[in-house]
Amino acid sequence: MKLAIVFGTRPEVIKVATVYLKAKEMGIDVKMIATAQHREMMDMMLGVFGISPDYDMNIMKKNQSLNHISSAVFLKLDEIIQKERFDWLFVQGDTTTAMTSALCAFNRGVKVGHIEAGLRSGNLKDPFPEEMNRRVIDQVSDLMFAPTKMSCENLKKEGHEEKRIVITGNTVVDALFYIRDKFDLKVIRESIVKEEDYILVTLHRRENWGEKMSNILKGIKRFSKETGKKIVFPVHLNPKVRKVVFEELEGFENALLIDPVNYVEFLSLLSSAAIVASDSGGVQEEAPSFGKFVVVCRNTTERPELIREGYGILAGTSEEGVYKALIKGIEEKLDGKNPFGDGKASERIISYILE
Ligand code: UDP
Repeated sequence: MKLAIVFGTRPEVIKVATVYLKAKEMGIDVKMIATAQHREMMDMMLGVFGISPDYDMNIMKKNQSLNHISSAVFLKLDEIIQKERFDWLFVQGDTTTAMTSALCAFNRGVKVGHIEAGLRSGNLKDPFPEEMNRRVIDQVSDLMFAPTKMSCENLKKEGHEEKRIVITGNTVVDALFYIRDKFDLKVIRESIVKEEDYILVTLHRRENWGEKMSNILKGIKRFSKETGKKIVFPVHLNPKVRKVVFEELEGFENALLIDPVNYVEFLSLLSSAAIVASDSGGVQEEAPSFGKFVVVCRNTTERPELIREGYGILAGTSEEGVYKALIKGIEEKLDGKNPFGDGKASERIISYILE
């Protein structure tokens, strides 16, 4: 059995790391293939899990377009696939790396496994390009590893064969447990910010670039001014994000703006936050394990379990919407049960391909 796992961004590394470790543990010949769609943030995460790629395509370019990423992945991955002759190729989530890698494998007759299959917003243009990527990947997947019942239902509704869908839980919970068991998160958090009970913020999505992000930040700032709560914000390295964030928050005495932190540091920040404001997918899936409420700064979420289970609110992107959601969310008391998984997703995924 020969398995390839392809990844290119920070969240992909986090969500494939324990699948890789489990595959090795269970004796599979597994190769890690990096596209490096986001070079620095991807590398930072690999270090945390002690993983070094077997292949590194190093495709990142300044001002890269989605088509540049796609064409570079197609050409470089194709060579590796032809050389290695994998039985299975796994992709994770909804990035351009994942979509093109899945198609590349499909074209060469390699079986595709989709980790985190079946998430849907219901609108091809929102989020762009992720929703299209997800659907394309599921179309060419031999096995779809759906994290929850709802994601499994989404796939069934689209007519995917039941025998190709498996509910596994989300691997992000495996990653989180792995880190939580290994590190003293409180000590690590104290090395970044002394006091607890801050607003932890992450924003990065393409759909929020520009004015929307600026309005979201205004709402968070207003809440911070009124409550005295500090804003702790590891700012994404994308220049389009950094420009707006620094315009809105630089010089504001309640804001701690830092560069992206590694996964252990991020989980340490999450564990001591009063509340979270984010447009991230992964953060929505992690926060429940720490009993934290998430103000989702978007108009839609592919993780409706978060809202249904009372761990989050869809705040939209207006100043007023975000501010009000923070006021409401800060009162919520949560129990730390995670609707997205139980920490055994990686084991289930590997067991399925071995069957
Ligand atoms: N994260 C991190 N360091 C940071 C900010 C986020 O390790 O400074 C982690 C976070 O725990 C989550 C993942 O990165 O697992 C989310 O990545 P991102 O928001 O970029 O992507 P998305 O989840 O929306 O695809």
